[in-house]
Amino acid sequence: MYDVAIVGAGPIGSFIGKEIASLGYNVIIFEEHSEIGNPSHCSGLFSTNIFDIVGKIGILHPAKKAVIYAPDGSKLRIGNDKVRGYVVDRVKFDRELAKMAGAKGAEIHLKERVKKVKYTDISTSKGEYKAKIIVGADGINSIVRKEMGIGAPKILGAAQIIAHSHLDEDTVEIFIGSSIAPGFFAWRIPLFDDLAKIGLASYKSSWLYLKKLMKKLKVQPLSISGGGIPINTVERTYARGMLIVGDAAGQVKATSGGGVYPGLMCAKCAIKAIKDALERGDYSENALKNYETCWRNGIGKELKYASYLHRLYTKFRDDEFNKIIKILNDEKVIKIINEEGDIDYPSKVAIKIFRKKPSLMKYLSIPARPYRKRI
Ligand SMILES: Cc1cc2nc3c(=O)[nH]c(=O)nc-3n(C[C@H](O)[C@H](O)[C@H](O)COP(=O)(O)OP(=O)(O)OC[C@H]3O[C@@H](n4cnc5c(N)ncnc54)[C@H](O)[C@@H]3O)c2cc1C
Repeated sequence: MYDVAIVGAGPIGSFIGKEIASLGYNVIIFEEHSEIGNPSHCSGLFSTNIFDIVGKIGILHPAKKAVIYAPDGSKLRIGNDKVRGYVVDRVKFDRELAKMAGAKGAEIHLKERVKKVKYTDISTSKGEYKAKIIVGADGINSIVRKEMGIGAPKILGAAQIIAHSHLDEDTVEIFIGSSIAPGFFAWRIPLFDDLAKIGLASYKSSWLYLKKLMKKLKVQPLSISGGGIPINTVERTYARGMLIVGDAAGQVKATSGGGVYPGLMCAKCAIKAIKDALERGDYSENALKNYETCWRNGIGKELKYASYLHRLYTKFRDDEFNKIIKILNDEKVIKIINEEGDIDYPSKVAIKIFRKKPSLMKYLSIPARPYRKRI
């Protein structure tokens, strides 16, 4: 009998594994792939807050500035010399975290797919196991979530390429507009040398729109990847002896698609709830409910706000995007963004911008959308 079994050695599973194993508990982590972090679909732009939690791992270079392109080609330039985030080697990042978990004593089983979980039993492609607590950190198609009978979050399709495409190393580019990426946005992120990750997410075919963007930017793909971004949290994240965390629970910022910071913040709540449950020997639904209360009262508020902003965003037409960028292109607004903007907490800066530019208030109404009920 293991104390904790974790399904998935992504960043969230490995982080939880490391922290619980360092408390002296028996931890086993199952990863279906033969290598940690591979394949990776992530664009690897991480806020500085992430490194305060896990340490400075996998960093390629700092990101300080952003250029946001409106559909009409006009630009909004934000940022200055302050480091806002880092571009990471995502494979290395995931591997470093898994290595830390292993160093603290967590057993990591690679190439072992979890096929079924029924508290306290775990059935994998290689054998049968038992654990007092089972954690689903198994991404968007979480098997643990399915076994808990919880519905999936809404997923936005994403496509990305790596290509030769020169841009300043400390600058990322964002392209908005329903003709560019309906419902979301496209990005160009410098990697190293003259390589960049270029991708987008969309409610329509992301591949089709990415092909159009490739043509516009005159780039040829060296490699291609695809993935899914959850844009709402699921209705419940705990059951008797079981938890789901990270993408499995839809704990991703709907404004940016960034899931690593919110996933880690929720993982902290999971670690506390698991520790308390193991100390008391109480793995009941009631004991693990503290996990959900913790994250919903913490980063959950920001995720809810991000979902609200996302719903507004999906409504805008290209002419409205052009007008919004024009309104934001004001040195007082840019000063607010530069001084107070935090990638992980957009609500703080958004409220200040609305105060400075009341003309933006007219865009604050929510359309009826088919997925609205789930959020
Ligand atoms: C195109 C794209 C770009 C992104 N860019 C960013 C970004 O720039 N910044 C950011 O913060 N976030 C970004 N994200 C989101 C980010 O990648 C995720 O939020 C993050 O990886 C979630 O971590 P996780 O550990 O919850 O899940 P995952 O990273 O998905 O890890 C889950 C792990 O579980 C394993 N697994 C699944 N099922 C099983 C099973 N049955 N048995 C055993 N193992 C299993 C998988 O193989 C995987 O290793 C991006 C996502 C996409 C699609």
